[in-house]
Parts: sequence; C-alpha cells; structure tokens
Amino acid sequence: MSEAGASCVLLVDDDSLLRRLLSRHLERAGYEALHAEDGLQAIGILRNRLPNVIISDLQMPRMTGWEFISVVRRRFPTLPVIAISGSIPTEFRAGTDPDRLFEKRLELFPELVRAVDELVRIVPDDVHLPQVVSLPVRTVSGFAGHITLTCTDCLRPFRAENTRRTEAGWRIAVCTHCDARVPFLIESSSPVRGDRCPVSNTPPPKARLPLAS
Ligand SMILES: [Zn+2]
Repeated sequence: MSEAGASCVLLVDDDSLLRRLLSRHLERAGYEALHAEDGLQAIGILRNRLPNVIISDLQMPRMTGWEFISVVRRRFPTLPVIAISGSIPTEFRAGTDPDRLFEKRLELFPELVRAVDELVRIVPDDVHLPQVVSLPVRTVSGFAGHITLTCTDCLRPFRAENTRRTEAGWRIAVCTHCDARVPFLIESSSPVRGDRCPVSNTPPPKARLPLAS
C-alpha cells in the first residue's frame, strides 16, 4: 500500500450497482475506488489520474472492455488489468488479454480483492505515464479540408476539419470519441504533388530516394 495514501483502483462497468458493491469491498480493504461507466469515460479519468489497478467489465456500450484493455496495454504497458464478465470468454485477441479474469459473482468479490492485493504489490506506486506522441501531420501551408488523426488517448482515428486555410504550426484537434485534445503539426515545407488531399498522422509510406545517376 502507498505511503502517501490509499492505492487506487479504477472500476469500469456500466452496471452502477455492481460498481457500488465492489467499491465497498475495495474500500473496506483500504483502497480508493474510482468509477467509470465505460472505456471512453475511463480514458477520460486516465488523463488526470493513474490507478494502481484497473478492473474492467468486457461488455460495455461505446467502447467494449476488449478495446479498452487494448488501449491500456498500448498506452500503459505496466498497469495491471483485471477483467470481469458475466460469462468467461475462452480466448482473447492478442493485446487484449487481462492479468486476471473473474466471473461477475458476488461471492467471488473477496477473491477479486485478493487479486488486487497481489497486483498492487508487484506494481510500483509511481508508475510514470508513458507518452504517446502523435506523428506530425505534413501538409502544404494554406491547406483546407479534412485531416484524419489518431487520437493519442483512445487511439481511435477521427476526422478533423480545417475550415480555413491553415498556416504552418502546431494545432489542436478534439477527438470525436473521447474529447481528448490532440496536438498535431502542420509543416510548411515540400508539399506532396497534388495538394489538397486529406492528410493523416499515420506513418507515411517510405519515401522513395532519387536514384544516383
Ligand atoms: Zn480519443
């Protein structure tokens, strides 16, 4: 347990009754419980606060537990995740498998809290937020149109619109899924042939080098 205060558990489940019951168990064991009703809301919480352990349901609206776990694995690789579900899936896609898996049953809550105890012990309290850096968008100065960006928080692609011709420099787009403010860079140099095409911050194809004569 943290010297500075209670270790923190983020509970992600659209069932508010289950969250209340489970947080009572956790608080009795000395944990602070944060609540989110789905993956997107949980991503909003992770913007300001990094818990010691996450407990996430799998079936949720807007963003499922599988997608949420995959985002956590890519953004916070050391953060332990316990998945809970009404029915236990037999397999998980690569990158979405939790550290522990529990069936959602009241009588399993004490065991679930013991799993949190174990995971808290193996993870340092001062986990640093790894930075996910968006790749700069490169386009001609004066570009107007749509830009496809990958959100640095929920990692989903979204379209941003430049309604006016944009000068080179840093810009902010708001993710249409999770409301994250996503910075991107518009460079003024070397426009690609056929400007005005939508640009993206996904990695560009390898540049072809001019052949030496
Ligand atoms: Zn987002």
